[in-house]
Amino acid sequence: ATPTAVMVATGVGANNGVLIKGGDALERAQKVKYVIFDKTGTLTQGKAKVTTAKVFSGMDRGEFLTLVASAEASSEHPLAKAIVEYARHFHFFDENSLTEDAQNSNKGSTAWLLDVVEFSAIPGRGIHCFIDGKRVLVGNRKLLTESGVSIPTQVENFVVDLEESARTGILAAYDDYVIGVLGVADPLKREAAVVVEGLVKMGVRPVIVTGDNWRTAQAVAREVGIQDVRAEVMPAGKADVVRSFQKDGSIVAMVGDGINDSPALAAADVGMAIGAGTDIAIEAADYVLMRNNLEDVITAIDLSRKTFSRIR
Ligand code: ADP
Ligand code: MG
Repeated sequence: ATPTAVMVATGVGANNGVLIKGGDALERAQKVKYVIFDKTGTLTQGKAKVTTAKVFSGMDRGEFLTLVASAEASSEHPLAKAIVEYARHFHFFDENSLTEDAQNSNKGSTAWLLDVVEFSAIPGRGIHCFIDGKRVLVGNRKLLTESGVSIPTQVENFVVDLEESARTGILAAYDDYVIGVLGVADPLKREAAVVVEGLVKMGVRPVIVTGDNWRTAQAVAREVGIQDVRAEVMPAGKADVVRSFQKDGSIVAMVGDGINDSPALAAADVGMAIGAGTDIAIEAADYVLMRNNLEDVITAIDLSRKTFSRIR
């Protein structure tokens, strides 16, 4: 392709909200064999919502939710935000004693949250802190078991049921006893399945990579039509997944939105950041999909194929 053709293609991309950082990236995209999708915020809407909260202790529901929300309040994770939102809603809107005015004026308040000390986020696991001198853990089963908290069978069964319906189960422990479980759902983007089908028709193999657990990942993969799943991948491990697909010389694209995804976006031959994603991801990528629409993954590959095709 001539420099003019590259310039034209870059312009066409920009008009469609596909920002291409340079001719090399544009050229590599035509040869993409694998497209690795991050799950949360990329294939899914990234709008996690708590759908279930089950207490497995003597605590009442309000107490349980306040405790868990207090622990999660310092976390930036989308799951944490969903939990705090759910608890806030319970606290202010299921309380019959409050007038609507009182509810609204309390909306942004954090006065209902408990004091937390020694908060820390554990990547790919969840969070850890102390409330009233007792250790509080909120996260996946690995977080609990690695911290020496045992998971009762009925809790495990409940989590498995959530995961089989494509939800993420978040476990909470207080003083090293499991006190309850939250189920969080994050719906697929509406175009996700069609885009996956389109890629397969183009001869491109879709893959899903996530820090989430195997069962949830497989349920989501099934819904979207992806067979190749890499789950329970630590944030630093996503780049290794990209490299494993590059081993035989294959050209690999990675599509992601999060801070977690930036090493993988940089490692990929073609890194595509979702425009609504974090700045760090956008910086690490070769392409920025400004419309936050997965159809632009196909647009990007098409554009490259058309620009560099030998048939003109
Ligand atoms: P993803 O690739 O899906 O963005 P992350 O590495 O951010 O995954 O998280 C992986 C898993 O770790 C989550 O599915 C969840 O089980 C757990 N986790 C991480 N952060 C939190 C948190 N703040 N609260 C509860 N669970 C968390
Ligand atoms: Mg993500």
